[in-house]
Amino acid sequence: MSSKPRAIRGMNDILPEVSSTWRYLETEVQAIVESYGYREIRLPLLEYTELFKRSIGEVTDIVEKEMYTFLDRNGESLTLRPEATAGMVRAGMTNGLFHNQKQKLWTTGPMFRYEKPQKGRYRQFYQFDVEAVGYEGPDVDAELIIMSARMWQRLGISQLTLEINSLGIPESRARYREALVEYFSGVKNRLDEDSIRRLEQNPLRILDSKNPEMADIVAAAPVMLDYLDEASAQHFDGLKRLLDAAGVAYKINPRLVRGLDYYSRTVFEWVTDALGSQGAVCSGGRYDGLVEKLGGRSTVAVGWAMGIERLVALYEVCGGKAPARDADVYIAALGEGTGEQAVALAEELRDQIDAIRVELNLGGGSFKSQMKRADKSNAAFALILGEQELADGTIGIKPLRSGDDQTSVALDDLVATVTEKLS
Ligand code: ATP
Ligand code: MG
Repeated sequence: MSSKPRAIRGMNDILPEVSSTWRYLETEVQAIVESYGYREIRLPLLEYTELFKRSIGEVTDIVEKEMYTFLDRNGESLTLRPEATAGMVRAGMTNGLFHNQKQKLWTTGPMFRYEKPQKGRYRQFYQFDVEAVGYEGPDVDAELIIMSARMWQRLGISQLTLEINSLGIPESRARYREALVEYFSGVKNRLDEDSIRRLEQNPLRILDSKNPEMADIVAAAPVMLDYLDEASAQHFDGLKRLLDAAGVAYKINPRLVRGLDYYSRTVFEWVTDALGSQGAVCSGGRYDGLVEKLGGRSTVAVGWAMGIERLVALYEVCGGKAPARDADVYIAALGEGTGEQAVALAEELRDQIDAIRVELNLGGGSFKSQMKRADKSNAAFALILGEQELADGTIGIKPLRSGDDQTSVALDDLVATVTEKLS
C-alpha cells in the first residue's frame, strides 16, 4: 500500500479559485509602486546564512528560531530567505547599485519562516517589498507610506490603522537601552524566559514580545520617543507634517520597535483587527546603518514589506472581489471533420481578437455534455460546429447567459460577430 504525498505544514498551494485574486492584487500593487518610480529587482531565494544573522540580528525571533538553514553539498550554510531586505541590500552591494546612486526598488515572492502555522501565519508566505536606498527622508519615508495608503484606497480596503514611531540613531538608542535595562531589571522576577535572555543581549526585543503575560510590564516601560536625539526628533516631526499634509491619519505607537535589528528612526506598521491576532499587514522602516554594517559605504535606506496572504484576506473581508477571468467563448464541435475545423477557428479567434479567452471543448462528448461544460466555463456564448454547419460554411452561436435563441453566422463573418458580441 502506498501513501499519498503530504504537503509541508504551513506551506500552501494557491489554488486557481484564489490565484486570480492574488494576481489581480499583485498587478494593482505593482502598477501603483511603478507609478512612483520603483523598479523591479528579482532576487535569489537562498543567501548565505551569515547575511541574515548580520542584518536581521542574532537575538531576534527570526534568527533564533525561524530560519530554514542547511548545509549545501559544499558544506556551506545557506538559508531560505525569511524576508527580502537583506537580500536586496546584498544584491545592491554585489552589483554596485548604491555607488553614488539612489535606488527605488521593488520585489515580490515567497519568504520562509519556521513559525507555528495558523490563520495568517505560514511557513512559506509571500511578501511584496519596496525599498528606497540613498534618500535621507523624511520625504521618502512619507512617500512610502502615502503610496501604501493609495493601495488601500485603490483596492477598497478599509479597517487599517497606521502606527508610527521613531527608533532614533544608535547613540540615542544606546541611552534608551540603558533605561530599559534598568527598568526591566527592576521587574526581572516577572519576566518570561525569552525576555530574561534578551535583557542582557537585546532589551529592545522585549518590547516586541508576543507573550500576553508580558503586556502590562511592556506597557509601563520607558518609551524611545523620550530619548530621541535632536536630529531624529526633527526627522520624526517632518514625517508627521508630511503625513498631515497628505491627509494620511496615523497613531503614534511608542512601543512599536519591529522584530528586526536593522531599523533606525522611522518605523511603521499598518495593522487591522479584522484578521484576528495576525494583524500586521504592511510593515516597514528606515535602516540607515545596514549597508555599512554589512561592510559597504554608509548608505541611508527605508522600505516596507506587505504580507500578501494577509492582504488577500483583508481584501475579501472588505468585500473585495477580483474581476472574473472566465472564458469569453466556448467552442463545441460534434461530427466527422468538425474537430479540425474547431481547432482552426479557436486559433483564428485568438489571432484576431486581442486578449480573448477561448475555451475549446476537449475530449469530444455528446452535444448535451459539451453544452454542460460550456455552461460551466461561464462563457457568454458557445460556438457550435456540427456536420451541417461544416457543409454550409457557417457556425451556430448560442447565448449561454440569456434565454435568447441560437443564431447562425457565416464563418467569414465570425471574427466580426464575436468582436461585436464581446464589446
Ligand atoms: P508578525 O508580527 O505578524 O510576526 P512580523 O513583524 O514578523 O509580523 P515582518 O517581518 O515585518 O513581520 O514582515 C512583513 C509582513 O509580512 C508582515 O506585516 C506580515 O503581513 C507578513 N508576515 C510576516 N510573517 C508572516 C507569516 N509567517 N505568514 C504570513 N505573513 C507574514
Ligand atoms: Mg514575526
